[in-house]
Amino acid sequence: SSPFLGQSVIPRVNKLQDIFSQLGSASTIDLPQVAVVGSQSSGKSSVLEALVGRDFLPRGQDICTRRPLVLQLVQTVQKADESSELIEWGEFLHLPGRRFSDFSAIRKEIQLETDCELGSNKGISEKQLRLKIFSPHVLNMTMVDLPGITKVPVGDQPSDIEARVRSMILSYIKHETCIILAVSPANADLANSDALQMARIADPDGSRTIGVITKLDIMDRGTNARNFLLGNVVPLRLGYVGVVNRSQEDIATNRSISEALVYEENFFRSRPVYHSLSDRCGVPQLAKKLNSILVQHIRAILPDLKARISTQIIMLQKELASYGEVTDSKSGQGALLLNIITKYSYGFQSIVDGKYEEWSTT
Ligand code: GDP
Ligand code: MG
Repeated sequence: SSPFLGQSVIPRVNKLQDIFSQLGSASTIDLPQVAVVGSQSSGKSSVLEALVGRDFLPRGQDICTRRPLVLQLVQTVQKADESSELIEWGEFLHLPGRRFSDFSAIRKEIQLETDCELGSNKGISEKQLRLKIFSPHVLNMTMVDLPGITKVPVGDQPSDIEARVRSMILSYIKHETCIILAVSPANADLANSDALQMARIADPDGSRTIGVITKLDIMDRGTNARNFLLGNVVPLRLGYVGVVNRSQEDIATNRSISEALVYEENFFRSRPVYHSLSDRCGVPQLAKKLNSILVQHIRAILPDLKARISTQIIMLQKELASYGEVTDSKSGQGALLLNIITKYSYGFQSIVDGKYEEWSTT
């Protein structure tokens, strides 16, 4: 397989997504994303954070994720002589140009924007927050953190909170281009997992669902997740990965992600029951699995993506023609946009035609 796809296709996909979301038509093009689903407090935000390797998401026992957070990870190249430069930062779509290098400030901004939009009393909304993380240490991908499924309304939540959250989640994971991380805690019955149930509705043959089992560290004494991870309880085509994230106490004591990863590694190493399952244990294995699935997935959907973009171009060309001569700024903008989209479309064309090199140098 071509390493180029993983490195260079995804940033272009991200760019397209940006362009279309600015146009207010993000939903007209199905682009590959990774979404986390599951019940509230199953550990969705923790899993995303661990994959990104930075602390920046609101996490906790109460409802923390109250609107969808679309997170674009952008891998930057770190030059040897740039040690004093800003190498990792976040940027929100609603605050263009403002670089957040302090990741705890990103978390505060997420909370602030959420409260500002929804009040502080547990209300939820489907209005997206969009954040980009630039870092040399991330895989290039887009991830969506979603509110979790709850059964009983609290605070400002409507009486049909469960149905609302389910349909919000479905609106993301129903797309053939969405890869689903179905997060289920190991200390609950996997056969009753909300995550697996939702994933099955959206992806009945399990071709784009990865099972993630969290909280392996707080299972009942004398039990383990072997049968879950082996797919003996609920079979899943792409299989499961078990992880150990930070506990609420770890959050309170500010345990860092790197400490947590060391802890997780020791956890699996010190439990012989997981030794023969090392390819499905730990956040690094999840990252590995995710990246290879993503690359295969993008390769498979490129022709369709290209067709959609071509349709969009034809529409834009018609619109542009309707402006007549390029005399005012509006048509100038239209031409610029057309140019950008055409360029990316050619990129996809070269990929489809197998001319990777040609595109990678533009
Ligand atoms: P979300 O609602 O699904 O996004 O869940 P969060 O990521 O906010 O986590 C909910 C709570 O579970 C937090 O207090 C986390 O510290 C805790 N938690 C998540 N994963 C694990 C885990 O693997 N082990 C332990 N002990 N606690 C976890
Ligand atoms: Mg969350």
